[in-house]
Amino acid sequence: MICVTLSKPTHEALIHQHHQVADQGVELVELRVDLMQQDPDVFRLIKNRPTPVVITCRRKEDGGAYVGGESQRRNILLSAMEAGAEYVDVECDTASAIPPSGSTKRIVSYHNFQETPENLDQIHAQLRACDPDIVKLATLAKNPEDNIRMLELVRESPGSTTAFCMGSLGLVSRVLTGKYGAPWTYASASESEVVAPGQLSYETMIRRYRYHLIDRDTELYGVVGDPIEHSLSPHIHNAAFRQLEMNKVYLPFHVPARQWKEFILAAQWLELKGISVTIPHKQAAYQLAEVADETVQVTGACNTLVRNANHWEGYNTDGMAALESVGGASVTRNKTVLVLGAGGAAKAVGYALSQSGGRVIVTNRTHQRAEQLAAELGCDLVPWEKRISVQADMVVNCTSVGMYPHTEGSPFPTDAIKPGTIVFDTVYNPKWTRLLTEASERGCSVVAGREMFVLQAAGQFRIFTGQPAPLELMREVVDQVLDGQTAG
Ligand code: NAP
Repeated sequence: MICVTLSKPTHEALIHQHHQVADQGVELVELRVDLMQQDPDVFRLIKNRPTPVVITCRRKEDGGAYVGGESQRRNILLSAMEAGAEYVDVECDTASAIPPSGSTKRIVSYHNFQETPENLDQIHAQLRACDPDIVKLATLAKNPEDNIRMLELVRESPGSTTAFCMGSLGLVSRVLTGKYGAPWTYASASESEVVAPGQLSYETMIRRYRYHLIDRDTELYGVVGDPIEHSLSPHIHNAAFRQLEMNKVYLPFHVPARQWKEFILAAQWLELKGISVTIPHKQAAYQLAEVADETVQVTGACNTLVRNANHWEGYNTDGMAALESVGGASVTRNKTVLVLGAGGAAKAVGYALSQSGGRVIVTNRTHQRAEQLAAELGCDLVPWEKRISVQADMVVNCTSVGMYPHTEGSPFPTDAIKPGTIVFDTVYNPKWTRLLTEASERGCSVVAGREMFVLQAAGQFRIFTGQPAPLELMREVVDQVLDGQTAG
């Protein structure tokens, strides 16, 4: 179950929103009366309630907004019990002043907005000693392991416990706390009404993560990176799982470079079946993989990890996706291909295009990296300043120049490109970059990076599930999300 937190300033607005969310199917709401700008009249708030309620009047020191006296706050919570609220939320130190009474159940809660303390078990035991019906813990995640400690607490708890981490690193525990036995997780009524760090909206919980369908058997997948907030992968893979009715969920893991090892331990605890890997972890993923495909072995860049019989297998789906996007080996064979860039994308794309018979020439702003890549691929290179002198049949942008929001940029002066050249931009947001628009105006054939993006995700989906990906759906989702973001 999902408990939706409501935080409107007045009685009218709270009651109105309660009915609205109930109409959307919400089964439980938390009324945050501490966030009201009127003295709360709980009887009035819950008189004709459409769903069960949790009444919460959180003090400032616990992360709430209540600034009145403690006896007033106690009276509000006691009146909630008298009015027959299904739950009240109290802290350990106030639990004795609000003893069990009537049919109302008491949630005894602990909040920590600074960290996830080491002594979680001790804190949990203290909360349990307050005779709660439900224990709630919400703490700030500072590393991936904090989520695991929380989920372990939920799994091992003898009583009913809902526990999760806050903050961008804590998303996974918010989505998975129910899988490990929590009676509910919390969500906001909408994206703009988030009341705690990292809280997801009800719609995101239901539509993207299908929280209501997650159970013990749900298989877990994810994408790891830093930053990860705007990753498209959870949109694409979850949509595909939904369409094919697979009991799988795909989560974003915000993991800074220094926390890679902790992340892998967490991934193993969670029994993640497959991971998409993005910046800055592709090389660390290569080092982790005990078995790796040829592209990973040659380029040292791994964008897909799969857990198989207690070891990790590494794949790279970028190269094949790039080759498919331009039309396959029949298009690249014996053609001169100028690759702009020498980062992760350039490595995978350069390797795939040279394997398919293209005569690859690399160029990069930082020449030393171009030298390194040319040596790895066994191909030619030109200095960045001389890139326009290459008589190329195909120009491939593997730099980030032109990417949203810096869409005015272009890595190549198109007046130097002869009509008929194939110009492929791996940048996928926006779909039509300045490079592609100008090249098209000059009579070049243009290929947008968005198709490569969809195909690399489709390659991952095949590796994860052994089944072909729903390509049309994936294209639709990418267009919808990216064009929405750009418009926003
Ligand atoms: P990366 O490893 O960080 O490499 C970035 C590359 O861009 C480097 O070669 C860098 O040159 C170059 N660069 C950055 N700013 C530049 C500038 N102002 N002028 C000239 N060169 C500049 O990143 P990556 O993973 O390779 O990704 C690069 C691009 O590929 C991104 O736009 C990404 O969206 C795209 N990509 C697309 C797909 C897809 O499926 N369509 C997949 C992966 C990546 P220096 O070495 O000089 O810094």
